[in-house]
Amino acid sequence: MDFNLTTTDAEQKFRSELGAFLDRELTPEICRQHSMDLGLGPEARAFALKLGATGWLGRGWPKKYGGSGGTVVDEYIMVQEFARREAIVPNIVARFMCGPVMLRNGSEDMKAEFLPRIASGEIEFSLGYTEPSSGSDLASMRMKAVDDGDSFVISGQKIFNTQSHFADYHWLAVRTNPDAPRHHGISLFVVDQRAPGITIRPIETLGGERTNEVFYDEVRVPKTRLVGELNKGFYYMAEALGYERLMLFQSVRLIPPFKRLLEYTKTTKRGGRLLADNPDVQRHLAQMATEIKVAQALEDRAFALLKNGDPLDHEASLLKLFGSAMRQRFADHALDILGPLGRLEEGADGAPLGGEMAKLAKTVVVDTIGGGTSEILKTVVATRGMGLPR
Ligand SMILES: Cc1cc2nc3c(=O)[nH]c(=O)nc-3n(C[C@H](O)[C@H](O)[C@H](O)COP(=O)(O)OP(=O)(O)OC[C@H]3O[C@@H](n4cnc5c(N)ncnc54)[C@H](O)[C@@H]3O)c2cc1C
Repeated sequence: MDFNLTTTDAEQKFRSELGAFLDRELTPEICRQHSMDLGLGPEARAFALKLGATGWLGRGWPKKYGGSGGTVVDEYIMVQEFARREAIVPNIVARFMCGPVMLRNGSEDMKAEFLPRIASGEIEFSLGYTEPSSGSDLASMRMKAVDDGDSFVISGQKIFNTQSHFADYHWLAVRTNPDAPRHHGISLFVVDQRAPGITIRPIETLGGERTNEVFYDEVRVPKTRLVGELNKGFYYMAEALGYERLMLFQSVRLIPPFKRLLEYTKTTKRGGRLLADNPDVQRHLAQMATEIKVAQALEDRAFALLKNGDPLDHEASLLKLFGSAMRQRFADHALDILGPLGRLEEGADGAPLGGEMAKLAKTVVVDTIGGGTSEILKTVVATRGMGLPR
């Protein structure tokens, strides 16, 4: 297939200016502070505001909402330039999930209130979809909002809401019509994450990441905080998924760790010979490099569709399915190369590569679960992509 990936002079200029800014401003400390589950530390917050002030965080968004114009190509350039440097775009949930849905469906007041603050790096959002008995089957969610004059009153429980303990706002999906068919009775709201009646409890994960249970006890939310139309929430969530999957997963992020591993094999001996001379190690490295290339080809294909204005359907599911399992295999290959010492974590004496592969192996476990499990994605690819019967 011929992917149209050419960029204009203006897009090239954006890439080089953003790249120069990141090379100058992005320190290892900022990258370390800005993991998905911890929010921004002081230096990372200052960095987000500085980036916001350049207008680049609002790249691709209309100027009247605090953006700096440009195209979806610019947005893709932005995530790639961050990923290349092993960093995450600040306020990523707000920037690539909530903002685009608001832009397409939100009221003028909502857009004016929130988009400029997202583009300036000021506010962060947490994603509130999953419930204890509604993960893959989100349409079965039960948390409910009841119409009460100027407000809705919301009660119930969410689980695995990763950013809730630091986010300013909750991007919340709830049932607004219990009598309608399941997909037609869900709405999206923007809720102040610290509103009275909300309780947040931590859940610690294998990867060391914190996520949360979030309880709502008759939380009053003004009607102006309804996103788009009542009972259309499920469609807004689904519509955003392909875009999110393309913007959040970038295989280029694995290239720096791969290069460090490669260098390690060229400088480390086992049994009197360099690891790089061992055919088994060479096989692992070749497999890793090949799989990164395959993931990049899938990303290019999805991006070409987005660029042409075509909908991302099963292509985004395929990308996420392959990319997430590929990252897990990447960590397995790395641990095989490093041998038993590879399991030593950061701070342990003799941990190869500072324990980064041991950490990676734990953090990638969630990749095949969050944002759609691999089993669900396989069904999407089989039915929508290949036309197989359900
Ligand atoms: C660390 C972490 C962070 C997360 N962060 C967030 C967040 O910020 N916000 C948020 O809303 N959610 C978040 N999630 C939730 C995540 O999206 C869900 O865990 C995921 O969608 C799966 O749902 P579940 O855990 O209820 O599993 P289930 O849906 O109960 O699935 C259990 C198993 O059954 C399989 N299965 C289920 N249905 C089918 C089917 N029809 N066919 C075949 N197999 C099936 C699944 O593949 C899985 O293996 C997070 C999860 C984790 C672990």
